[in-house]
Amino acid sequence: MERKYLYLDYLTCIGCETCETVCDFIHGGNPHIRIYVTENKQYLPINCKHCDDAPCLRVCPTNAIYRDEDGAVRIAENRCIGCLACLQVCPYGVPFYSLKVKAITKCDMCAERREEGLEPACAEMCPAEAIQYGPLEMVLELVNERRAKNIPEHRREITKEELRKSVSSGYVLL
Ligand code: SF4
Ligand code: SF4
Repeated sequence: MERKYLYLDYLTCIGCETCETVCDFIHGGNPHIRIYVTENKQYLPINCKHCDDAPCLRVCPTNAIYRDEDGAVRIAENRCIGCLACLQVCPYGVPFYSLKVKAITKCDMCAERREEGLEPACAEMCPAEAIQYGPLEMVLELVNERRAKNIPEHRREITKEELRKSVSSGYVLL
């Protein structure tokens, strides 16, 4: 199966909170993506980066955190003992302890939807196309389009190899 990536463009995000709302609905009131706003009104949708060398996965003492075949970093809730080690090492403050499931929980890149051949809900529903999901070639095109348009000093196109080095596993952001 061809590997796919999440692409997230902060400058295109209009702060409508559609991604957060749909994620909240899917996850019963526990959205796994949240919109933050900086002082200069820049909207920042923050969710799991599915890091290549994921610190959360490395420190989990029970191997409750694993990577699935699409590259998404997932939690096996039945193996989580609630030690909160992952929560302490995540540089983005992503994992949170759910009292409802009594385990750590976080974005799973919409695992159930992916199993049905659908894309993550945030990518499907974002009206500004600030979040997109697709193969590396598609993401490369989006990144280079975006760089040429908004960052004049970066008019040189980046190569697939450079992109591979710069992105965390399964996740791209500008
Ligand atoms: S939870 Fe944090 S450390 Fe783990 S993969 Fe996601 S962003 Fe990376
Ligand atoms: S990919 Fe799915 S689970 Fe992850 S933040 Fe987006 S909507 Fe939520």
